[in-house]
Amino acid sequence: MIGSGLKKFAEANGLTVKNGVAYGTYDGVFLTLQEGAGWKSVSAAVYFDTAEQSDRVRGWLGDEARQKEFRIQGGSVTDVSVKPGSVQVAFTDNPGTMGKIEAFLPLFTAMLKDLAVKSTQVCHSCGMAGGDAADVLIGSTVYHLHDSCSAKAEAELREEADERKSTGSVAKGAIGAALGAIIGAIPWVIVYAMGYIASLLGLLIGICAKKGYELAKGKETKAKGIVIVICVLLAVVVAEFAAIVAVNTADGIELGWTFGEIVAFMLEWAMGEGLAVVLKEIALGWLFALLGIFQLLRDTFRQTKVEKVVRL
Ligand SMILES: [Zn+2]
Repeated sequence: MIGSGLKKFAEANGLTVKNGVAYGTYDGVFLTLQEGAGWKSVSAAVYFDTAEQSDRVRGWLGDEARQKEFRIQGGSVTDVSVKPGSVQVAFTDNPGTMGKIEAFLPLFTAMLKDLAVKSTQVCHSCGMAGGDAADVLIGSTVYHLHDSCSAKAEAELREEADERKSTGSVAKGAIGAALGAIIGAIPWVIVYAMGYIASLLGLLIGICAKKGYELAKGKETKAKGIVIVICVLLAVVVAEFAAIVAVNTADGIELGWTFGEIVAFMLEWAMGEGLAVVLKEIALGWLFALLGIFQLLRDTFRQTKVEKVVRL
């Protein structure tokens, strides 16, 4: 997607706007710019001659002061990515971000040129100049590729996607997510028992459920998001009731009660004066948990998307 800010920038700098991206040579570097909900991204199509070049680029982009200054989204593979063929940087999109990007670009291109990273005039896959190289959009970057090189890239992407879909299992991931959610719910129960409102800790339940899914080697598909949401919603309810039991043990529930007796006691309490309180706390817990895992899930969906290859 391309908004008015990027469009204006593209026009002023002679970039081509096509297929939802702006691309072309800017200050000697072959760049692609685009944006989505809450982010703008810049990626440079490059050819690294040495591993040292890519390490230095990674180091430059990983600098925390620089990330802060230019609103670079750090910490996730999808936000700053340096790999053979491309360097991608995502920016948090707020008013003024376009100005940050305009200030960032000359420094970025100067850094690439200082390191003698090849970007224009070469195929970004094989590094050779000349031949039948053409512009090809893959994911969010436009590359200059030979026909045979882009066919190879397309085959590799398909293979990668197939492999990702065939490793791990959703069932294993679900068990991991459930265990993670239960562990993440423990602080909720403790904090509640100490007399505080615990809804904010719904966030922790979400994070633990996702971690559990991954540790259990759950399959990386969209089902992951659904499994995590279900585990989180259930865990918040369980945590809320466990917390009520913990609080009411002192005045009501006694040790030695059967499970059925405890449930009956809780239901009676929940149906009476406690109902409004319980519902409110569960709803708030859900809200915080879902807000917390929104970003995590967005990354999941982005990572499981198969990148398309479009010849421009
Ligand atoms: Zn090539």
